[in-house]
Amino acid sequence: MSRLEDTFLADTFWKRPVTLVKGKGAKVWDSQGKEYIDCSCGYGVALLGHCHPRVVEAIRRQSERLITCHGSFYNDAREECLSKLQKIKPDGTEKVFLSNSGAEAVETAIKLVRKFTKKKGIVAMVNSFHGKTMGALSLTWNAKYREPFVPLLDGVKFAPYGKIDKLRALVDEDVGAIFVEPVQGEGGINIPPPDYLKQVRELCDEKGVLLVLDEVQSGFGRTGKMWAHQHFGVRPDILCSSKALGGGFPIGATFARADIMDSLKRGEHSNTFGGNPLACAACAGAIEALLEDGLVENARTMGDLLKNGFSQIESKLVREVRGLGLMLGIDMRFEVMNIILKSLERGVIVLEAGKTVLRLLPPLVITKEDVQKVLSVVSESIKEEERRVFGG
Ligand SMILES: *Cc1c(COP(=O)(O)O)cnc(C)c1O
Repeated sequence: MSRLEDTFLADTFWKRPVTLVKGKGAKVWDSQGKEYIDCSCGYGVALLGHCHPRVVEAIRRQSERLITCHGSFYNDAREECLSKLQKIKPDGTEKVFLSNSGAEAVETAIKLVRKFTKKKGIVAMVNSFHGKTMGALSLTWNAKYREPFVPLLDGVKFAPYGKIDKLRALVDEDVGAIFVEPVQGEGGINIPPPDYLKQVRELCDEKGVLLVLDEVQSGFGRTGKMWAHQHFGVRPDILCSSKALGGGFPIGATFARADIMDSLKRGEHSNTFGGNPLACAACAGAIEALLEDGLVENARTMGDLLKNGFSQIESKLVREVRGLGLMLGIDMRFEVMNIILKSLERGVIVLEAGKTVLRLLPPLVITKEDVQKVLSVVSESIKEEERRVFGG
């Protein structure tokens, strides 16, 4: 079958051979009617499950009233969204800038750092991922993404994740900020040593450098707390959020200390769609759902079930099982693509993080029953791959 996605759409995505047409909760269905448990959630976006009723209703109601309203006008849906965001804002931040994606939330953070500190230097982490627009790309580790597009931002250095001494050595007087993911997503579901983020915070305070946390993937309840950095007892100066924040609808938010945010004068940073009523309504509905349905709690219990289950897989392919809440990785000795495709055939969608880490970002509404199915399908697929690799 010839599809415009193959012939007309820019060929920039690795495609799975499946057309998804419907979703409800933890499940999605393809055009043949086949059912899948979705542990990818569009890279963590459908954290509330697909088509959460509160989000659907919020979008429906708002779409009948007002879809667009530029930031140069006040709007009631935006006001409502801001009151909800204020409830979940990270400690230490007082203001928020609204945008439309993770990369845009990161771009905002980069401009805030420049404007507030007047410094060009940024230290990001080895194995970081911050997005693919030119600024965010400059902070993204993978050379495969960066190299075709140099020159990028000047003054960016990369420190090995979790190593405070190496980081300290890179922070000179040109450095305005350190960008960290409290749990690295794309880079392999990497959890830092327990004291690391505290040490980074202390280093920032000592050197007068801003701490920017990228919680685009780890935030919004994913790890069993509202923000992943809360596991580590630190506060950010700036925090980037997106992915799940709109309950599936595109939205980005950059939270910052008031003095930092106030360094931007009117007109110095703005956008056309940021804070639009539809995204704001979706986001308000999503926050309500997350808080009132006890979903953050579920991230902890279901996350533990999955992690324990995966830890019991006996396979020569498995190096390590890592995870915090429902942000999980199985570090393998070989490439994981076959396991992903085998699992897909068996009705479970899982992701990769790099070539050798199997990544799961299940929705927080996932049930025990679905967790059991995910465990058995992924184990079977790993076993099958093991037989293929080692024979027998
Ligand atoms: C996905 C992601 C981004 C980029 O978000 P986009 O919406 O794809 O631009 C940035 N940072 C982290 C940690 C991410 O996981």
